[in-house]
Amino acid sequence: MSEPSIFTRILDGEIPGEIVAETDRVFAITDINPQAALHVLVIPKSGEYRDVAELAAGDPSLLAEVVDLANRVAAERAGGEFRLIFNTGAGAGQTVFHVHAHVLAGDLQEKSLVG
Ligand code: AMP
Repeated sequence: MSEPSIFTRILDGEIPGEIVAETDRVFAITDINPQAALHVLVIPKSGEYRDVAELAAGDPSLLAEVVDLANRVAAERAGGEFRLIFNTGAGAGQTVFHVHAHVLAGDLQEKSLVG
């Protein structure tokens, strides 16, 4: 078994984090290093998928739940228009290997990448 990810530790209350929304299988937290006016991470509660490619292959309905919660958070907090980014692989800027979507909204003119 690998160590629990930082997101699992936040979900379990072991380290602080601001959970802004959740469903049975997915939760959303405020990114500690925001890159836009709204920067939330939407994360499956299960840490079994490392990245979005694994998630899409292994549980497409869970990927759809991630997108749905991203849409809901953006609707509630940023007028409903948002950018959704999945860094996939270290070379693409992924640092936490527990799949997560970056939801970015507001103040995006000069922001094209996360990571
Ligand atoms: P990535 O680089 O795509 O793997 O994204 C990881 C994200 O997790 C980065 O945007 C970090 O700012 C964010 N992050 C790391 N530690 C925490 C934490 N303790 N609470 C909230 N966000 C975090």
